[in-house]
Amino acid sequence: MDNTAVRWQRAAERARLANVAVVGEVEAGRWVYLVESATVGTGTYAVRRHPVTRVLSCECAAAERGDWCCMHRAAVLVLRKELPAPTPPAAAPCRYGCGGRGWHADPDGRSAPERCPCRDRLAA
Ligand SMILES: [Zn+2]
Ligand SMILES: [Zn+2]
Repeated sequence: MDNTAVRWQRAAERARLANVAVVGEVEAGRWVYLVESATVGTGTYAVRRHPVTRVLSCECAAAERGDWCCMHRAAVLVLRKELPAPTPPAAAPCRYGCGGRGWHADPDGRSAPERCPCRDRLAA
C-alpha cells in the first residue's frame, strides 16, 4: 500500500472512532455531501468532488491548511464504497431505530434528516 492509501485508511479509522456521520447527499448525483463535524457540536462540512479534476474538497480546518486527506472526505468515500470500511464497531443496535446511522431520514425527502437521540447520548 502506498502512502496515499495508508493516509486514507487512517482517516477512515479516525472518522469511525470520532463517529462522524455523513448526513446525506445535498443534491443527488452532484457529489456534494454534508458530513458532521467531530468537534463543532452539530456543525457540518460540505465535501465535494470536482467534476473535472475529481479532487475532493472539504470545508474543515485541515482542508483550509491545504491538507488533501481528512476524516470527512474519508467518511464519504467509505459511504460510497470507494474506500474499504474500517472494522465495524461492536455497538449495540440503536433503540431509537436509526440502525446506528445517528440520523433519521425524512421519509418524504422534503426536510433535512433528523438527529437521532442516540447521538446526543453518546455526546453526553
Ligand atoms: Zn474535512
Ligand atoms: Zn440512533
